[in-house]
Amino acid sequence: MNKTTRCTQCREEFTDEELTGSVCPVCGTSSVPMAISEDVQVAINWHELRILGMWAENWAVSHDNAEMVKTVRTIARQVEQQFPGKPSITLSGEFRDLREALPDIAPGSSMQISDPRFYVPSEQPPTEDS
Ligand SMILES: [Zn+2]
Repeated sequence: MNKTTRCTQCREEFTDEELTGSVCPVCGTSSVPMAISEDVQVAINWHELRILGMWAENWAVSHDNAEMVKTVRTIARQVEQQFPGKPSITLSGEFRDLREALPDIAPGSSMQISDPRFYVPSEQPPTEDS
């Protein structure tokens, strides 16, 4: 059976038979999945992608909706993984890259983002006493 649908959160792919309910059987999101047949390639400048990525992440964060933030960051990572030498297209990704580039400076330093909405996806959001 051909995979027809991809989850927007975990990017797992499913056949029509595997995806019967309204939630992803792998990650449990109810975010609307994408049809794999709608995959496209576009020509765009990286700077334009950064504008879209940063605005989209900021919009999702400003609505304080974890599901939206996760969807935007998942899409951004998918784009970034296709061009590993390019800078991140989200602000949280830029901070993640800075922390990776400067591991001796980043932990607990002024590079920590105090607003929990900007936490790096691989980390837990900072608590009020951190
Ligand atoms: Zn999923």
